[in-house]
Amino acid sequence: MPRNIDELSNLKTKSEPPEQYFKKMDLDEEQVERRIEYTEKANELFDVILILLLTMQENGPVDYGYARGLLENWLLSLIAEFTTPDDYLIDYATDTAYNFIDASERHEGDPWYTSADRSLYNAENSANDVLNYDEYQRAIEAGKTHKKWITENDKKVRDSHRELHNKVIPIKEYFRVGIARMRFPKDYEYASMFPEELVNCRCSIKYLPETVKSDTINKEKMKSGEYPVTNEQIEDILNNELAEFQMPVIPVYNPRLKSQGLTRGKEQPWGTVTITSIQIGKQVKNTRECLIDTLLHEYLEAQIMLNKNSDPFYADLYKSGDAAIHSYIDDFIESFFKAKGLDYGLV
Ligand SMILES: [Zn+2]
Repeated sequence: MPRNIDELSNLKTKSEPPEQYFKKMDLDEEQVERRIEYTEKANELFDVILILLLTMQENGPVDYGYARGLLENWLLSLIAEFTTPDDYLIDYATDTAYNFIDASERHEGDPWYTSADRSLYNAENSANDVLNYDEYQRAIEAGKTHKKWITENDKKVRDSHRELHNKVIPIKEYFRVGIARMRFPKDYEYASMFPEELVNCRCSIKYLPETVKSDTINKEKMKSGEYPVTNEQIEDILNNELAEFQMPVIPVYNPRLKSQGLTRGKEQPWGTVTITSIQIGKQVKNTRECLIDTLLHEYLEAQIMLNKNSDPFYADLYKSGDAAIHSYIDDFIESFFKAKGLDYGLV
């Protein structure tokens, strides 16, 4: 006879205290709090069921049907404290009560099946079962469009889940988990036939905002001037004064641009930024220094965009807003001019 999900959990090591169990998952503080609160209540509920079963075992015939009905109702009331039970959650409560009592019946006399460890184990798993589903629903309501599967990335993670680490897909699509399909870790909808993919899974999901957002920092170099430049002049500066700076894309002159320079980037839902274009417009002064200043300005804006999700320095700078960004850029350029013996007065 195949093992049900509750029997599979018996194969694992001892349960961990809830704080430790949920803090290791990739969850924010509020999510950890909710899961701990759910676990404490579910733990009490499973404890009472186990005491009831033990009492019935010691004193006469065991009414498993009665215990199952009780557990099912209590689980539903518990779920209702955290979210609105829908068909999915009603089915979940029925299946969970059935599996828990069925395993108890089949293992009557096995001490683990009446242990505090089993109760806590089931409580922690139930918190993830119910709240993973709840967070999925909330993310859709909040207009999130994508989701990223995250494992604990340790050696306990099963291979079929490890393969999904950091995978991003549209929010309503299914992850392929081994041969099962899941919208999020512990999704019972189709995966209930594959308890080995569900049991004690500590994976989590990051829900992501709009697909791709465009990014430009420009403000200060807003107004274009009256002096056209050429792509040859740009290239010459990049090969000489600015040879040490690697432009992410080749800057191109655009006489219709409404500013002296404009750098555009795109950000993927998972945080990767790419620079899509750097355009150079007419300059406010007819000097080589003015064009050097503009090119270096655009280079620095590109660096901030490219690194704002990965480098703490750029992340702080980006968050401090336009004024801070431009004062950083101006200071950088002024010291660069000084170091190279260029005249900043010609900018
Ligand atoms: Zn997992």
